Amino acid sequence: MHGSGPPDTDIARTLTGVLPASRVVTDPLRRLAYGTDASFYRLTPEVVAVVESEAELQAVLRAARAHGRPVTFRAAGTSLSGQAVTHGVLVLIGDGFATCEIGPGARAVRLGPGMVGADVNARLAPHGRKIGPDPASIATCKIGGIAANNASGMCCGTAQNSYHTMESLRVVLADGTVLDTEDAASVAAFRVSHAALLGELDRMAAETRADTALAGRIRHKYRIKNTTGYSINALVDFADPVDILAHLMIGSEGTLGFISRITYRTVADDPCKASALVFFPTLGDACQAVLGLRQQPVAAVELLDRASLRSVQDKPGMPDVMRSLGVDAAALLVEVRARTAPALQLRMDAALGVLAGLPTVEAAAFSTDPQVCESYWKVRKGTFPSVGAMRRTGTTVIIEDVAFPVESLAAATLDLQAAMRRHGYDEGIIFGHALEGNLHFVFTQDFSDAAEVARYARFMEDVCTLVVDTYDGSLKAEHGTGRNMAPFVEREWGRQATQLMRRIKALLDPGTLLNPGVILDDDPHAHLKHLKPMPAAESMVDRCIECGFCEPMCPSHGLTLSPRQRITTWRERSRREAAGEATAEIDDRFGHLGVDTCAGCSLCSTACPVGIDTGGLVRLLRDRRATPVARSLSEWSADHFDTVAALSRTGLRLGHAAARVVGDGVVSRLSGGAWKRGMPHAAHRVAVPRSNAGDPVVYYPTCGGRIFGDSTPGQPSLHEVVTTLLERAGYAVRLPEGVERLCCGQMLFSKGRTQEADAMADTLAAALRAAADDGRGGFHPVVMDASACALRMKERLAGRLQVLDFHEFAHDALLPRLRIQRSAAPVALHVNCSVRRSASDEKLRSVLRRCTESVVEPTGVTCCGFGGDVGFKEPQINAHALRAVPAQLPEGCCSGVSTNRTCEIGLTDRTGRTYRSIAYLLEECSRPDAVGAAC
Ligand SMILES: Cc1cc2nc3c(=O)[nH]c(=O)nc-3n(C[C@H](O)[C@H](O)[C@H](O)COP(=O)(O)OP(=O)(O)OC[C@H]3O[C@@H](n4cnc5c(N)ncnc54)[C@H](O)[C@@H]3O)c2cc1C
Ligand code: SF4
Ligand code: SF4
Repeated sequence: MHGSGPPDTDIARTLTGVLPASRVVTDPLRRLAYGTDASFYRLTPEVVAVVESEAELQAVLRAARAHGRPVTFRAAGTSLSGQAVTHGVLVLIGDGFATCEIGPGARAVRLGPGMVGADVNARLAPHGRKIGPDPASIATCKIGGIAANNASGMCCGTAQNSYHTMESLRVVLADGTVLDTEDAASVAAFRVSHAALLGELDRMAAETRADTALAGRIRHKYRIKNTTGYSINALVDFADPVDILAHLMIGSEGTLGFISRITYRTVADDPCKASALVFFPTLGDACQAVLGLRQQPVAAVELLDRASLRSVQDKPGMPDVMRSLGVDAAALLVEVRARTAPALQLRMDAALGVLAGLPTVEAAAFSTDPQVCESYWKVRKGTFPSVGAMRRTGTTVIIEDVAFPVESLAAATLDLQAAMRRHGYDEGIIFGHALEGNLHFVFTQDFSDAAEVARYARFMEDVCTLVVDTYDGSLKAEHGTGRNMAPFVEREWGRQATQLMRRIKALLDPGTLLNPGVILDDDPHAHLKHLKPMPAAESMVDRCIECGFCEPMCPSHGLTLSPRQRITTWRERSRREAAGEATAEIDDRFGHLGVDTCAGCSLCSTACPVGIDTGGLVRLLRDRRATPVARSLSEWSADHFDTVAALSRTGLRLGHAAARVVGDGVVSRLSGGAWKRGMPHAAHRVAVPRSNAGDPVVYYPTCGGRIFGDSTPGQPSLHEVVTTLLERAGYAVRLPEGVERLCCGQMLFSKGRTQEADAMADTLAAALRAAADDGRGGFHPVVMDASACALRMKERLAGRLQVLDFHEFAHDALLPRLRIQRSAAPVALHVNCSVRRSASDEKLRSVLRRCTESVVEPTGVTCCGFGGDVGFKEPQINAHALRAVPAQLPEGCCSGVSTNRTCEIGLTDRTGRTYRSIAYLLEECSRPDAVGAAC
């Protein structure tokens, strides 16, 4: 692959001796793909090792030391400064480190480095608590990266970052020793085994404290956010060298040791919130307001310069005033939070008191309406993606991260604006966490051209002069030093403090095993080396900034490729093709890793800041590689869908006949995993509704429920259950004409056969409109019983017909008309990708809560990975996507619900519980004689 040599077979061989072979990655495609992070640096690891335990990590460290290879740890790979990439051994933190133990009263939480930050907060939320660090990437980034970068965001300031909210730490040092600061025995043993190391730390701390100028400078520099260099404030903040060591690990970016567990003191998550978006005639006025607001109990103050506001002002829902602001204008987005409404009012009044005395474009006002607040935050959150989305193909988007003393914020921001203009970064915008003097400036950069790289180098030189020499600020406030600022650490900190940092590195990692080139680098040009190419690939993904935000959504992430890794690989293939280089190496493996194992769920698009649907790329590639036979088959299926459904039902009958003789397991093996445990029987044919009395509603029984019946023979098929329910609630069911021939084409759409799929959807749309026509120029609602198909038809019929997913109609129209007897038995819920994308999950939960007293909704799952027929052809995706589910289902939970027939087949297979449409449960609970469903 580009920029990488052949894998070091010696170390790979050693690693396969200590880890399962499947967790030692040596193929070039995945080394490139897994090696990518969110920064603009590209280093391709020699080998990637996935570790699931401390013992495995220790074994990898031993192997790397023996082979003289450097090691870089990787949590979620959202780092921006190049600290999570390597030419050596890349260690990926596996599921085994995704541990979370909430302490008494949720005052503290003990976490493994593999936990995603937002998942921790979701678990703490019922207790009204959260972790202190709040990076904007929290929905993706993991605790290991949060702690090792000392990441922070708009509310946590300098008081609630990892450094200040860590209670204890468990760390594996470069020599393999484990120190657990909450375990007295571990600490005592360490004091003996590492007396010399602790003694040296003690001496360094004593020397530093004795040097009042140095100690004062260190304290001064941490008044504002600072992640440049090591956390040497530990040398002045703590007396015990064990505490010093633990705090040095925070922000050490994987260069001093591996954080295998951290316990945080949690902070209050105040439920009452209010926001104000205040526009000022000049940036100076806005910064003046920041000084006043700093004295008040405000949670966040975000500054936006005129260029930021301009980048989003024409988007839907933006306040009109934005378009008429003057050239020097700026805005502050102020948030206040409190435990109670009266306390919140007091805080709003205090903030408004500050603003009242200052020039504003309009009178400042807070809103507590969540929708209004969300619209304000859309202004702020839209700025970075807007630059990313507008950039020229082939360029990268850079988000820089500096901090100035707050008193200098106005002058520094104006200087920064001038520097961007001077160097031709006219598209650049500035926004940031004003309370901390932390500014992000975002601009686009071409690294494929030497002149452009030189321009970037000159700009960075100017930025350093501005931040360090003029304002004595921080070159990295939040994002970590990485490779990007390593050459400038001494410039910012001076020789004496940098010397301390070098001593710390030499003390803890004498062999330079851990992440060399990160935080400290004597090469003054290191920040200009290993720049990541961003070649044009396909227009639909060219805007990708490789941030990785899509990864937690993807069912194939961690098994084959994530959306980001698919794009990275396709970019590399495109680069090779454009350069006339061979692409066979990629083509051979990408078919399986990138194309076949994408579930096509498009959930990636819901998390992407620039709106990319990697599923769209995969569909395009599926279409391109389709053979003439496959194309003819698709065309034939589209024209003869009733025959396709009939053949599928026959296949199910034959499968069951065989399974009765040789067993499910044998049929499953013979079919390559396509035959599942609890495989449904063939569905009954759709019957004409019994009655036409009541309010008309069109019901379209989707093909999944017309093919796959219930797992138990003799039980009604889904369409029979839904019809019963609709009629029970007093609806007259209308079926579209020729229902057996109809299909929305979702399956062909997933295969990239857009034309045939769209033709099928159009035929269905016409049949639905005909059935829904009320004869008076209006239309009755249409109900569909599979979420994937409902979503597809909603999108195609938007504004022309009201299409409702079954659970939405059940929530809005059936619940008020049915008498429901709740079941006591716990029922598992799977919210599938279509329900997530249509944001109808709350309605689904609400219907389920009416049917059962106990809802079990496992965490750690998004899309089930079944993806229409992917689950039959690539069953390992389904198994991987649902790997966290079975362990979370309590013993008494013997059934589950979802809203797509194929998802339910996979869920039943993987969990051993029978998953069915929620319609079944609602029907059972609303029978006149219902006593509550039981196992
Ligand atoms: C769009 C965008 C917005 C962002 N916004 C913010 C923000 O608001 N604030 C902010 O601070 N950052 C922000 N970041 C940067 C980044 O997301 C955070 O710093 C995040 O905390 C990194 O976590 P991660 O899990 O991705 O770590 P990774 O990138 O995987 O790793 C980060 C560093 O930690 C090391 N590491 C990982 N795990 C361990 C471990 N167990 N032990 C020791 N070292 C380890 C790695 O070697 C690496 O040096 C943003 C990034 C993006 C792309
Ligand atoms: S597809 Fe979107 S979310 Fe995923 S890495 Fe690219 S920009 Fe980020
Ligand atoms: S469509 Fe689904 S499976 Fe495919 S890349 Fe996106 S999230 Fe992953």
